[in-house]
Amino acid sequence: MTTPLLSVSGLCAGYSGAPVLNDVGLSVNEREIVAIVGANGAGKSTLMMALIGLLPAWRGSIVFAGNALTRMSTFERVRAGLTLVPERRQMFGDMSVEENLLLGAYSSPGLQNRQHDLLEQYRRFPRLQERRLQRARLMSGGEQQIAAIARALMARPRLLLLDEPSLGLSPRWVRQVMDLIEDLRQGGMAILLVEQNAREALELADRGYVIETGRMVRDAAASELLADKQLADTYLGGGADGMEARLRLFRTSLKAPVAR
Ligand code: ATP
Repeated sequence: MTTPLLSVSGLCAGYSGAPVLNDVGLSVNEREIVAIVGANGAGKSTLMMALIGLLPAWRGSIVFAGNALTRMSTFERVRAGLTLVPERRQMFGDMSVEENLLLGAYSSPGLQNRQHDLLEQYRRFPRLQERRLQRARLMSGGEQQIAAIARALMARPRLLLLDEPSLGLSPRWVRQVMDLIEDLRQGGMAILLVEQNAREALELADRGYVIETGRMVRDAAASELLADKQLADTYLGGGADGMEARLRLFRTSLKAPVAR
């Protein structure tokens, strides 16, 4: 059996003493696309923040490519080969597209290769080159999502963490983003994808996890999750039953610990 690229076990984290993630375990193999699906407030973004080190782990371990990341800074995690594309892209709107891209290369090995990698991103995304001197906020949501991914690629990740990359995008842009994720995998990258758009994510992924109120409740091949009727009703836009299931889930999530 091969050692996973990313291996997380017993991870607990939260805000101001209020727990959100409870004993979370997951793994991602080389060149694998893994999707984490779950309702609003289930803890998906919190998990991404804990993986990249923007939120400290209270307990548990994060091992990436043989390195124990759990106590490392975000900077060190990026250098080790992990990069996050955050929810809602988080572009610096008043900076140019190019300045945003260059920010992605702030740590080596990205820094040493940044001119080469910038040209590589422009080759891959000609639209970004056309807009390179424009303020990032003038781009459409889809263009900003592509730019946010390109910025992350400037750090030369081995594993890309993507938090809701389809959020607020038209179906055409969702398709483009999903195709890009598949291309990145073909190029040798591993992807951990967090999505409310569960069907799109699972159709792309090899494996999937279901997170509910900070706990992983399912772990299976993506095709198995897609074929699961109960799951489909809850997360994949089922009919009237699905609406009832989503309401049940929403009520459960209201009982989850809230730290505000
Ligand atoms: P969404 O897609 O709606 O963001 P999610 O699954 O990503 O959902 P999280 O954003 O991780 O969920 O939120 C998990 C829980 O943590 C929620 O109860 C949320 O209110 C709480 N939470 C998130 N961010 C903070 C914060 N900065 N301070 C306190 N509580 C927070």
